[in-house]
Amino acid sequence: MIRAVPYGQYLRARRICSTESTFHQQADDLRQRFKDRGYSNRNIKKAYNRAKVQQRSQLLRPKQPLPTNEQILQAQDNSLFDTSSPAQQKVKQVKIYYATCPCTKIYVGLTTRAMKIRVREHVWDINLARATEVLEDLKPLAKHFKQMHNCDPSILKIRGIDHIDLGMRGGDIGKILAQCESRWIWRLNTTQPCGLNEVLSFAPFL
Ligand SMILES: [Zn+2]
Repeated sequence: MIRAVPYGQYLRARRICSTESTFHQQADDLRQRFKDRGYSNRNIKKAYNRAKVQQRSQLLRPKQPLPTNEQILQAQDNSLFDTSSPAQQKVKQVKIYYATCPCTKIYVGLTTRAMKIRVREHVWDINLARATEVLEDLKPLAKHFKQMHNCDPSILKIRGIDHIDLGMRGGDIGKILAQCESRWIWRLNTTQPCGLNEVLSFAPFL
C-alpha cells in the first residue's frame, strides 16, 4: 500500500517521458518529492525499479480529457480527483489543484474536502463577486473573474495536480500543507501578476 503511490507516479513518468534521459530527470525529481513526503529510500527504490523495467509502448494509453466544471459538480463522489485506491481513501487526503481561466492565469489551492465542494465554493465566490463593490473584499480568483471575465464561472477550469495522504505521517500538518502549496505556487509561477495567487511566503520552509 505504502509503495503504491511512488510506483504509480514512476509509472506515469515512464509513460510520459519519451526518452530515457527525460525519464531519469523526472525520476530524480520524484525521488526528492517522495523523500519530502516521508517515504523510505528502500520503498522509493523498489517502486523506481519496478517502473523502470516497464516498456513505455505498453504503457501508452489515450489521454483522459479534462473534466468540465459541470462534470466535476455532477460527480457523485471524488473519483475525478482521488487517485488513491478505495482503501487508501479512508486516510485523510489533501488535494492540491489549480484553477484557470481563458487568459491562462493560474491559481493554486488545496483542500482536505471533496474537490466538488471546493469547486462549488469557487463558483459561489465568483457569483457573489457580481454584487461586491469593493474589489479588495474579494478573494484572488473571484477578483480576477470580476475584473476580466464578467463574473462568469462557466469558464473556470479546475484540475487536481497532486495529493498527499496525511494518515501516514506525523509532524506539523499545517506546515506540511503550506510547504506543498508553496512548492506548487513556485513551480507553476502563479503569484501575481503572472498568476492569481497572492504573495508566496517562504515561511513554511523556515
Ligand atoms: Zn482570466
